[in-house]
Amino acid sequence: MIEGFVPWPDEFARAYRAAGYWQDISLGEMLERRIDAHPDKIALVQDDRRVSYAQLGEKIDALALQFWDCGLRPTDRVVMQLPNSIEFVVVFFALLRCGVIPVMALPAHRRTEIGHFIRHADAVAYFCVDRGRGFDFRAMATEIAAEAPSLRDVFVLGEPGPGQRSLSALLAAETPANGSAQLPSLSPDAVALMLLSGGTTGIPKLIPRTHNDYVYNCRQSASVAGFDETTVFLAVLPMAHNYTLASPGIFGVFTFGGTVVIAADATPETVFPLMEREKITLVSAAIPLIVNWLNSDLLGRYDLSSLRVLMNGGAKLTTELRRRVEQRFACTYQECFGTGEGLLSMSRLDDPEDLRLASSGRPVSPGDEIRIVDERGRDLPDGEVGELIVRGPYTVRGYYKAPEANIAAYTPDGFYRMGDAVRRVDGNLYVEGRLKDLINRGGEKISCEEVENHVLAHAGVRSVCVVAMPDTVFGEKVCAFVIAQPGAALKLDELRTFLLGRQIAKFKIPERLEIVDEFPISPAGKILRRELRQRVAEAVAREKSPASGAMPGQQSA
Ligand code: AMP
Repeated sequence: MIEGFVPWPDEFARAYRAAGYWQDISLGEMLERRIDAHPDKIALVQDDRRVSYAQLGEKIDALALQFWDCGLRPTDRVVMQLPNSIEFVVVFFALLRCGVIPVMALPAHRRTEIGHFIRHADAVAYFCVDRGRGFDFRAMATEIAAEAPSLRDVFVLGEPGPGQRSLSALLAAETPANGSAQLPSLSPDAVALMLLSGGTTGIPKLIPRTHNDYVYNCRQSASVAGFDETTVFLAVLPMAHNYTLASPGIFGVFTFGGTVVIAADATPETVFPLMEREKITLVSAAIPLIVNWLNSDLLGRYDLSSLRVLMNGGAKLTTELRRRVEQRFACTYQECFGTGEGLLSMSRLDDPEDLRLASSGRPVSPGDEIRIVDERGRDLPDGEVGELIVRGPYTVRGYYKAPEANIAAYTPDGFYRMGDAVRRVDGNLYVEGRLKDLINRGGEKISCEEVENHVLAHAGVRSVCVVAMPDTVFGEKVCAFVIAQPGAALKLDELRTFLLGRQIAKFKIPERLEIVDEFPISPAGKILRRELRQRVAEAVAREKSPASGAMPGQQSA
C-alpha cells in the first residue's frame, strides 16, 4: 500500500468481496481475459490502423519489459499526458504491468498543473507527446524537470528533446534480451492509477483508484450501458478523463470484448463519416459536442443507423436536447452523472421516456449508499433538494496525500460530499445545481478559487470574484468580476494574455471581464457570488436578444 492512500475500512472491503463487487482481479487481468477469449477480435481502431486483442496484448507485454529495463518499478508514480491514441492504451497497460501508477493528466494541462502533479506525486517520469496543437511539450518538460527533483525520465512519443527518452523507439523495439524478467504480480487492492479531481480549491487533487474498485467501476457501468462483444465505441473526449476511460468508456469496452474506435477530433466532419464507416454503436459525448452535432448540416447525410446509444456526461443536458438527440440520431439517449471520485448514476436504456429525458439516472451499483442531506447533515425526505453524499465499493475514501482536504470532502463516517444539489424521487436522482464554487465548462470543471488566485497576481487587480456565466454551447463559461487598482485600465485581452503566460490550462481562462467598483456583500461579509452570477446571466441574456444591439461575448467594461 502506498503512503498517502486511504483504504476502505476492513469491514467494508470484506463486504464488497462477499457481495462479488470486488473480484480480486487487476485491470491487466481483466484485459487478458478478453485476449484469451477472442484474440482475433479487433480491440482498437485509429485511422487505418486496426489492432486485435492478441496484438494489443503482445504490444503491452513488450513495452512493459522495456519499461522494466528503464528502471520503472512497482508503486513508482508517473505523470501520463498522452493524446487519444493506440499508444495511450499500450502505455497505460504496460505501466500497470510493472506496477507503476500513472497520474492521468489531461491534454489541456500546462506547466503549472503538470509541475504540481509531478511534485505532489513525487513522480519519477513524465510521458508526453512531442508537439500537440502547436504546443511543444518537450520544452515544457525540460522546464519542469529543473524544478522537480523526483523526476528521472521524460518519455516522448515522437521526437524526444535533449536528454529525453524516445517512447516511439521503445514501442518499436524488439523484446529485450532479458525478456524473462519477472514482472511483478500485483495485489488487486493496490492503487492502479490516479485520476484528477475537478476540485474547488487550488489545483486538482489526485484520486487514487485501486484495481478492485476500478475493475468494478468499468464492469458495472458498462453493463448498465448494454456493452457486449458487439459494442463499437467511439472515443472522442480525452481518454485520460474517468468518463471516457472507464465510465463505461474504453475499459468498459475491454471488459466485454468490444471495439474502441479513436476519433481524431470531435467535429461533425470527422465524427459522422467515422461513425458510418466503423458502424459505431455507442458514443460517450458531452454538451458542447452534442450541441455542435445537432446543429450540423452534415447530420442526416451519413448512415448512422448502427448507433444504439448516445451518452452524455460531465454536465446535465436539457430535456429538449435529449429529445432531439433521440429523434435526430434515432437512438436511445443515456445520461451519465458521475465523478472521478467514484459514484456513477446512469439512466437505464429501458427507462420510460420521462426518466430518460429528465433524470440524472440512478446509481449503477446496489452497493452505492446514497444520502441527500441538509446543511446540518440530516437526511431529507424524497423530493427535497439537498447535498448528495455517497459511500460505496468504487467511491474512494480519500484523496492522495491530502489529509486536510479529506476532512472537508468527507463525513466522519466516510461519505464523500459530491458538492451537487440533488433530489431523489423513487430512487432516481435529479441534479438541480451545485453547492461547490465550481464552473462546469462543458464538462471541464474549473475551481473559482484557483482562477481567482491567478487573476490576483495581475498588478492591475485589487480584488476578484470568478463566477459561471451561461453559454449555449458549453453550458457555462468563466466570467471574472474585478475591482481594479486605482488608475489601472484592465482589458479582457490583456488579462487573458497575462493568464496564458502563467501556463495554466486554456479552458480555465476567463472569457468575460466585468470591472466593478465593489462586490455585493452578505451581512456576514462574504461576497454574494449568486448575485454576481445572476448579474452576468442577465447581461448575457440581454445581449442575445436582438433588440439590445450588443455583440455577444463583448467585454462590458
Ligand atoms: P468530474 O469528477 O470532474 O467528472 O466532475 C464531477 C462533477 O461533474 C459532478 O459532481 C457534477 O457536478 C458534474 N456532473 C457530471 N456529470 C453530470 C451530469 N450528467 N449532470 C449533472 N452534473 C454532472
